[in-house]
Amino acid sequence: MAKTLRLILGDQLDCRHSWFADSDDQVWYFLCEMRQETDYVRHHVQKILCFFTAMRLFAGQLRERGHQVIYWRLDDADNRQSLADNLKALIKAHRIEKFEYQYPDEYRLEQQLIKFCQTLDIEATVVDSEHFMTQRDSVAEQFGEKKQPLMETFYRKMRREHGILMDGDKPAGGEWNYDKSNRKTLPKGQELPAYPHYCRDVSDILSMLDEQSVDYFGQVDAGQLDWPLTHDEALAELNDFLKNRLKHFGDFQDAMTSRTAAGAPWLFHSRLSAALNMKLIRPLEVVEAVAGYWRQHQDQIDISQAEGFIRQVIGWREYMRGMYWWKMPDFACANHFDHQRGLPDYFWSGETELACLASSLNDSLDNAYAHHIQRLMVIGNFALLTGSDPAAVDAWYLGVYADAVEWVQLPNTRGMSQYADGGGVATKPYVSSGNYINKMSDYCQHCRFDVKRKTGPQACPFNYLYWHFIDRHLDKLAGNPRMSLIVSQWRRRKPEDQQAIRDSAEAFLRKSG
Ligand code: FAD
Ligand code: SF4
Repeated sequence: MAKTLRLILGDQLDCRHSWFADSDDQVWYFLCEMRQETDYVRHHVQKILCFFTAMRLFAGQLRERGHQVIYWRLDDADNRQSLADNLKALIKAHRIEKFEYQYPDEYRLEQQLIKFCQTLDIEATVVDSEHFMTQRDSVAEQFGEKKQPLMETFYRKMRREHGILMDGDKPAGGEWNYDKSNRKTLPKGQELPAYPHYCRDVSDILSMLDEQSVDYFGQVDAGQLDWPLTHDEALAELNDFLKNRLKHFGDFQDAMTSRTAAGAPWLFHSRLSAALNMKLIRPLEVVEAVAGYWRQHQDQIDISQAEGFIRQVIGWREYMRGMYWWKMPDFACANHFDHQRGLPDYFWSGETELACLASSLNDSLDNAYAHHIQRLMVIGNFALLTGSDPAAVDAWYLGVYADAVEWVQLPNTRGMSQYADGGGVATKPYVSSGNYINKMSDYCQHCRFDVKRKTGPQACPFNYLYWHFIDRHLDKLAGNPRMSLIVSQWRRRKPEDQQAIRDSAEAFLRKSG
């Protein structure tokens, strides 16, 4: 074999990839920490630490298995801090005859690698990452020019094709979707599950980031990073989820709480997204484990719990990836409502009087994690109602969450949450007044605003911001059949009521900066 350099990106840490089946003296694997990755957006420190720690552990595992690995730390003298420059230097220094890489999942990196390969005078090959259950173009192929690519249609096809939660050609339990039973609120005395811990001293990487003046935000408690960052740890998290959380996953999937007990931010969620996105664990292995566990414990675990989870992984996750590759690069510039406001400073401090927003922001800032409904119906809802620029919203989401990689962050943020694509991902904007937040959480009980009031200084801001959003975008919303009832309700309101809402919303927006 020609002397080969194989690139492993920070989100390609799959120890079971066929690349690693055999070791070969002629093959060199290359991983590198780079400023181009720490700096393309301002990141939460836990996100950077998760990636760098997982990469270092992965490089160690490859060496133990007899592979030859070149690992460049951020502070290595040889490190040019850019992917193309690093590769170029390595290929020259080691007289590499062949370059191989796996398909990157981010458009940005794919463009860089395509351009880089065009400059090479040696053979370059790209291979599959062997992670996903679908091809990049599966969603585009399934829906073609159809106006509304429905996730539910995609999801049922996935269930059938992979035989997951199926009894013959029928969905197990008789229904495809148990979404309606996935909307319970957390009862007052509900015990929360304990979580496995992986506390790992990361003070050396933290010092390196400081020495290199990397501009991050957030912190990591006592220099201890508590995320599953190897394949074995991801399996441990999955097994703990099966035993202790799956039984209530569906029930409390949409519930939110301001409780401060350890584990409260995660409730019954799996905490697997970062491990999945770094490819430490495969989606098929996760859903097969969940489906198998449910089959064995049907007397204790309702199918709605397993189906609710499996829908997220083989439905939403694969669908979002397909939408990303279908709609990029235009997706990244879409701004259907022409929103232009920047995000308020409290997105980085968590200091706001809105209890729901403070709790969701602080969970995000403390843990580099918030669960789906906090991301969608509190933070995203607020950003959309206040007319935030989708580019600013994308940058915040991409920076703050440990699981944020663009292929999944962007369709969720710009598509599902901000409706900036005008309805590719979501059939209507995910907006709500305070009523929904009150129904799904205990936030309003601790808030200085009154969720029942509609206007004035004591009223819940979500109430008037919701109608103000409808008012501002009447033309665009009127054409959406799923919004027509709301639009006609607004139009039937007395002019003085409409004006009171506008006044309250505009006063709030002026104060909010
Ligand atoms: P669980 O609730 O246990 O769900 C199980 C798994 O399903 C997750 O690990 C994840 O891999 C997958 N999943 C669930 N919902 C989605 C979804 N909507 N899209 C894709 N996969 C999903 N997820 C990311 O992985 N990275 C992101 O950057 C990201 N950004 C988001 C931004 C917004 C505005 C919203 C509304 C959602 C975003 N999500 C993102 C989806 C979801 O919020 C996270 O996957 C989830 O909160 C991760 O926690 P968990 O592993 O405990 O998930
Ligand atoms: Fe949020 Fe409004 Fe409830 Fe306060 S009253 S927690 S702002 S929904």
